[in-house]
Amino acid sequence: MRGAVQGVGFRPYVFRLAGELGLGGWVGNDHRGVVLEAEGEAAAVSVFLERFPAELPPRAVVHEIERSWVEVAGATAFVIRESGRDGARSAVLLPDAATCEDCVREILDPRDRRYGYPFTNCTNCGPRFSIITGLPYDRPRTTMAGFAMCAACAAEYADPRDRRFHAQPNACPACGPRLWLEDGAGAPTGGTAESLAAAAGALREGRILAVKGLGGFHLMVDARDEESVARLRRRKGRYEKPLALMVPDLETARRLCAVDAVAAAALTSAEAPIVLLPRRPDAGVAAAVAPGNPRLGVMLPYTPLHHLLLRAVGFPLVATSGNLSDEPICTDNAEARERLKAIADLFLLHDRPIARHVDDSVLACPGGAFLPIRRARGLAPLPILVPRPSSGEAAPGILAVGAHQKNVVALMLGRRVFLSQHIGDMETPQAYAAFERVIRDFLSMYEARPALIAHDLHPDYLSTRWAREVVAGGVEDSSEAKSLLDGELVPVQHHHAHLASCLAEHGSEGRALGVIWDGTGLGTDGTIWGGEFLLGDARGFERVAALRPFRLPGGEAAVREPRRVALALLWELFGEEARARMPAGAFDDEVGALLGKMLATGSRAPVTTSAGRLFDGVAALVGLRNEVSFEGQAAMELEFVADWAIEDAYSIDVREGAALELDWRPLLAAVVEDSRRGVPAAIIAARFHGALAEGIGRVAERVGEPVVALSGGCFQNLLLTERCRRRLRRGGFEVLIHRQVPPNDGGISLGQAAVAAARRREPT
Ligand code: ZN
Ligand code: ZN
Ligand code: FE
Repeated sequence: MRGAVQGVGFRPYVFRLAGELGLGGWVGNDHRGVVLEAEGEAAAVSVFLERFPAELPPRAVVHEIERSWVEVAGATAFVIRESGRDGARSAVLLPDAATCEDCVREILDPRDRRYGYPFTNCTNCGPRFSIITGLPYDRPRTTMAGFAMCAACAAEYADPRDRRFHAQPNACPACGPRLWLEDGAGAPTGGTAESLAAAAGALREGRILAVKGLGGFHLMVDARDEESVARLRRRKGRYEKPLALMVPDLETARRLCAVDAVAAAALTSAEAPIVLLPRRPDAGVAAAVAPGNPRLGVMLPYTPLHHLLLRAVGFPLVATSGNLSDEPICTDNAEARERLKAIADLFLLHDRPIARHVDDSVLACPGGAFLPIRRARGLAPLPILVPRPSSGEAAPGILAVGAHQKNVVALMLGRRVFLSQHIGDMETPQAYAAFERVIRDFLSMYEARPALIAHDLHPDYLSTRWAREVVAGGVEDSSEAKSLLDGELVPVQHHHAHLASCLAEHGSEGRALGVIWDGTGLGTDGTIWGGEFLLGDARGFERVAALRPFRLPGGEAAVREPRRVALALLWELFGEEARARMPAGAFDDEVGALLGKMLATGSRAPVTTSAGRLFDGVAALVGLRNEVSFEGQAAMELEFVADWAIEDAYSIDVREGAALELDWRPLLAAVVEDSRRGVPAAIIAARFHGALAEGIGRVAERVGEPVVALSGGCFQNLLLTERCRRRLRRGGFEVLIHRQVPPNDGGISLGQAAVAAARRREPT
């Protein structure tokens, strides 16, 4: 059995089933997965073959079963064999799993020996990826290696009938990790119960608590208290991005937000992600948690520590990653004390080391389907299965280093593309260090020596530079990664990678029209793309249409200032008149004149087809926002303000040329006219979304390819996605929407790997 089959109670499952049927034989883990031999009466063997795949343990995911008939060995008993160390390393590392119901019951039961114990776990739940230091998955190769099991725990571990049989992180209050609370000066207080009570008391008083969790630190504060949330934002330097919440239970989530069946299933799953949910007007959560946002990001407690803490406080907590804005999450006690000392008042710590950082995953559930926004805890490093292998299972594989923002790296081995946890924006030295660490980690875990290294076309992305300088050997580097990497570089165009990613996760090998809309990506013509229609597959593409280009006065500055984009859009309609048409007070005269000059001459005003920027510009025109504190903020607000009940749309043109051009000028003229007449932004925004969906539908009809794939960061916009899906379905198209990897740049590395694999199979 290949797949996620180790550490999920697979061997005891086989042991029990074989025992029940009176079969002899053995089952064991090796580097490839789980191997078993069973023998007995023919009838019993065939019952085994039937029941075996039908009754798998809940956390097991079987990708492949290979079977053959072997000579009868004469075994009468069935045994569990110790792990071997032979064979290719393709066993799947398991993601961390939220605490199961059985374990929650135990920590709440005063008669249980694990009552109130924050590190309780079993074969069905608990830490995995965040504690694994090597393969195969066994206690000595986890961060639990330093804890010797007591007699009671050892007995559970050895008993195939016990829920904790071979539960590698098995622990109890007598032998396992310990919890304590520290103030800023590092003075620890009391035992587990006292620490939890004191931590809860501090939260009730509005203090900020740093909590060491599963894959890193959270910063927690009372989510109901405006002042405390504002203080956390100030100290963390995170002024406007929404903050996630952890709530005690599903009932509380329902009081805060509308939770449908799909969202409830996501919240209570073993992945336990942050789920973006429509907030209720009377949610009773501080406005500062998610200013201007109609959704709240909510998760449930997913470790015993979280369960105990949330029960002790009894109200929703902000639970945002423990870092300074945009840096990777802290994982180590000493590091947290240092990096978070100016933010947290108190530290709730424990002594189980975290092997690698794993952030919380983020998911939206539009229309009863999952839309991943960030893949990390609970999902990483599970592979995406693609239809065809890059080559044989033992082949050296492909490494894909992702893009610049929301970086994720991928390692393709055979049919499986292992995606790393979310690394983040490669802006800080810490993020770059995390990127290198994750690559090193992946390569050593799987003992992979990739033959191909796929990277973005953009020469200035740090991921590209890493590939070119470290791998291609321009720079002296003593890291192990370098010694493992001597593969050939494969540059992949950014939007092509988005298309290939969407096709790969859907197992589609045919052609599709990729509607790839995002903020920024370097095009093959050297301009900034972002509103693309690419016809093709993983092997290649033709750019059959794009948004009508416009200029970005000041380049990067236009990303931070949507008003600059607004002016540039108006310039395309009105030329020199544009400045007079801008909303009052957008610029002072001097700046306006300077920008006008840039637009007139084209100097320091690069050309782009970016859909993300088009959204930004329109947001500024309707008066939502002149400046942003994070990329995409204005575009998001345009989505949030839109009234979903408005069905009519502005007009938009599709123009003929060497390639088609989606001309937004009629649409923009209507936006300007409606704004002037005082039409509410909610209506303008809805008509704007409707126009773009109609435009996409018309381009798809002109191109005539029956399958349309929607990818790129703009398709995190639920209204745009929904309107496009509807319009395209009406036109008879099959529509592919991301379900397994994010449409944003977090999905890029999967696409890069797919493109590199296709080129290896069929070199161009
Ligand atoms: Zn459990
Ligand atoms: Zn114990
Ligand atoms: Fe992108």
